[in-house]
Amino acid sequence: MSGPYETVIGLEVHAQLRTRTKMFCGCSTGFGAAPNTQTCPVCQGNPGSLPVINKRAIEFGIRTALALGCTVNLQNRFARKHYFYPDMPKNYQISQYEEPLAEHGTLEVAAGGAPRVIGIQRLHLEEDVGKLVHEGEFATARASHVDYNRAGVPLMEIVSKPDLRSPEEAGAYLRALRAIVVYLGVCDGNMEEGSLRCDANVSLRIAGSDVLGTKVEIKNLNSFRHVQHALEYEVKRQAQALDVGERLTQETRLWDPERGRTVAMRSKEFAHDYRYFPEPDLPPLDLAATEVERLRGDLPELPAAKRVRFVQAYGLSPHEAELLGQGRGLADYFEAAARESGKPKAVANWVLNELLRELPGDDDAAVAACPITPSRLAGLLALIDDGTISGKIAKDVFEKMFRSGEDARAIVGREGLTQVADTDTLAGVVDQVLAQHAKVVEDWRNGKKAALGFLVGQVMKSTQGKANPAVVNQLLGEKLPKV
Ligand SMILES: [Zn+2]
Repeated sequence: MSGPYETVIGLEVHAQLRTRTKMFCGCSTGFGAAPNTQTCPVCQGNPGSLPVINKRAIEFGIRTALALGCTVNLQNRFARKHYFYPDMPKNYQISQYEEPLAEHGTLEVAAGGAPRVIGIQRLHLEEDVGKLVHEGEFATARASHVDYNRAGVPLMEIVSKPDLRSPEEAGAYLRALRAIVVYLGVCDGNMEEGSLRCDANVSLRIAGSDVLGTKVEIKNLNSFRHVQHALEYEVKRQAQALDVGERLTQETRLWDPERGRTVAMRSKEFAHDYRYFPEPDLPPLDLAATEVERLRGDLPELPAAKRVRFVQAYGLSPHEAELLGQGRGLADYFEAAARESGKPKAVANWVLNELLRELPGDDDAAVAACPITPSRLAGLLALIDDGTISGKIAKDVFEKMFRSGEDARAIVGREGLTQVADTDTLAGVVDQVLAQHAKVVEDWRNGKKAALGFLVGQVMKSTQGKANPAVVNQLLGEKLPKV
């Protein structure tokens, strides 16, 4: 970016709530069912059908609002948001407008530099709309079908203030928000399945100015990568336009990941007038303050607090704490293994370097299905600790544990992997290696220090990695000068 501009970004994040049933009816919210098998007159918008508020969705919304430090509006209500779209037969969506569930929260975000507090403007609930399925390409489709399975699925919309100052910061905000809703168990955070998606508002202004520039909205970003790339592209596009004195249009754009650019979708001049009015079929919500306080008391320890505790209590680096604290499943796994083994630092290493490489993902389900339980990992570390196996052998044992679900001791016993620390046995191997590598010994004598490492490696190799490296080093130290 060439001009002295400041980037101003605000995000609207839609999170699908993990309720079993839809926002206003009893239909299932399960993903991937055959089209239109999870619908009823209410979510299809048939005349005469009446919506009923899903209490669990309200509770999930309140829990999230409290975790984000929002004020919960004890009195709030649903409104009709009118617009025409073929996947929405009622021609309105039930959402919240003037009286949202919660407002005025904050989320602390760290992206490279010092942490910054990003304002949360509001949090409200609404229903999702249906999905259009086109036969072939959209423009030339022979036919289009509507699947109402998704219509009526409960969504929570979290709107940030325009406090984000860079695409990286927007990405960090989205990650932090995802971690919170996943921790709370209110959203599965699965971006591929659309459980979490976001719209981004971005504008540039002359650095130091209070006046906001012309805002562009990028719709429906469904991965961290897309959010960041779309924003990077858009910041550059707007800066180039401003540099040459071009006037930007307030418009809605879409991200085209294949071509790596945003494309205009509609101009705000044709923006919808939503004609909001209070939903007449639903009573205003009157929440009890005691109930809200009960939910506050039930909040789990949140990712930010957990990160701080991991650094203080276990001596982890902030980076390790961040990685281990992302998901509740992984954090619990780490703590259980650290407690049992008494070696938090080593456990962190094994989890981050070995376990995450083997697991198909770092989500709670993947961690829960892991064949190496925290207690088995602690068992493996105990074998390294008491000298039964070397760190190198331990990595092989770890892999075998993962495949077979056995514990470390059983594998080590069966495969005879116990470390050889016996000086007499190893002395013979060391002599042999020294005899076979006279040239290397000469290099060592001429001051080439790396030669020692090679000789240690040769001893390890001829013992299939079972030699105790400390004993090998000691023996070589004694024998080398005498060769
Ligand atoms: Zn329904």
